[in-house]
Amino acid sequence: CGIVGYIGYNDSKEILLKGLEKLEYRGYDSAGIAVRNEEGIHVFKEKGRIADLRNIVDKKIVAPVGIGHTRWATHGVPSKVNSHPHQSASGRFTLVHNGVIENYDLLKREYLADVPFASETDTEVIVQLVEKFVNEGMEVLEAFRKTLKLLHGSYAIALLDEQDAETIYVAKNKSPLLVGLGKGFNVVASDAMAMLQVTNQFVELMDKEIVIVKTDKITIQTLEGQVINREPYTAELDA
Ligand code: GLU
Repeated sequence: CGIVGYIGYNDSKEILLKGLEKLEYRGYDSAGIAVRNEEGIHVFKEKGRIADLRNIVDKKIVAPVGIGHTRWATHGVPSKVNSHPHQSASGRFTLVHNGVIENYDLLKREYLADVPFASETDTEVIVQLVEKFVNEGMEVLEAFRKTLKLLHGSYAIALLDEQDAETIYVAKNKSPLLVGLGKGFNVVASDAMAMLQVTNQFVELMDKEIVIVKTDKITIQTLEGQVINREPYTAELDA
């Protein structure tokens, strides 16, 4: 399983698909991408191989922001509906996740009893919680932080907000995730391999860190909101 993300000026589709192909070695049963342009967020997902996903991606859409996922099903059978990305009830938030949310059932009952769920995954609670807290009046970052504090388990997460063209929200706990730095773009990946196609500059993340990824800047924070400064390293690998 794996995660990729791109925010910049170029079209994200091919970078995401190539990145997911580089993560195929990690194993998966389904794959998906969500890309964002002026029209909104477009989700493509399918059970099966990246080649199957390629066939359903609309080649005409050009989108400079996107996230992608390969799934290794832990909660809910491998199917198109259970594939990531997952969206919140209103469609505003779109999220990919690797890992396991151990208390998802409890969170669902405690906070989301009225929310219609589309999938059987543990993952969907994350995106529904973010939307619930935003609907209650929180800023997106604050809602994301509050959600992460409620989660027990492992996660690498990338989140898009349909109302914000300039940000990918990222978080990590006990699942691998890196941020890659470029000139005029930034990327996210479970493994540097996936993004060597565009950069060899990566920033390591620690558990329970959030990253606000923008085209020309990244900000790393703890779950408490304390800003962390960390230098990138050069990945010495062959693409
Ligand atoms: N637990 C999530 C699911 O079953 C994510 C699995 C993964 O890491 O790919 O959908």
